[in-house]
Amino acid sequence: MLVAVDRKQGGTSKGGKRRPGPSSGAAKRGGARKAAGSAKVKPARLTRSSYYVVRDSAIHGRGVFAARPIRNKQTIIEYRGERTTWDEANTRPLSDPDNPHHTFLFGLDDGRVIDADVGGNAARWINHSCRPNCETYEDEDDRVFIAARRAIARGEELTYDYQLDWQGRLSKKEREAYVCRCGARGCRGTMLAKKKKR
Ligand SMILES: [Zn+2]
Repeated sequence: MLVAVDRKQGGTSKGGKRRPGPSSGAAKRGGARKAAGSAKVKPARLTRSSYYVVRDSAIHGRGVFAARPIRNKQTIIEYRGERTTWDEANTRPLSDPDNPHHTFLFGLDDGRVIDADVGGNAARWINHSCRPNCETYEDEDDRVFIAARRAIARGEELTYDYQLDWQGRLSKKEREAYVCRCGARGCRGTMLAKKKKR
């Protein structure tokens, strides 16, 4: 699951340890994290790096596209980044102030998150869609992978359902930040997951 976080804009000292900028109000960021699906796919064997290419997307900002035809169930890329706690990730400044609600956090089953702001790869640029051609899964080693959920033609943009999960309450403004414009038939209008009843 992806965690949607609106990170406070702060300094982005490359390499050095990033600390939160001066907290201007808003002690805690509302936010949500991406959530893994339950795809039954073959274990990842990522010998080829050329399944995808990153370029500008019509959906949003950068996107990831199929560089070759991809068969159903094929694992395409690992969602890389630093494993950390939700709280720690939330203290970090934004890496992309122009997209304050673009989340790079992917929630793990054990409650930690993968923060693709730190050591992330191209997987962080994969956009959300309500009718996606990919899905995610977490293996026994807490690694998250993105796999095709149908055959994908070369040149298609890769997408998965972020199923954004969050903690606490989201303000109306925050909810608006997660409005979905994927344009798919049946678009549910938000990248947020439906809150599960517990
Ligand atoms: Zn949508």
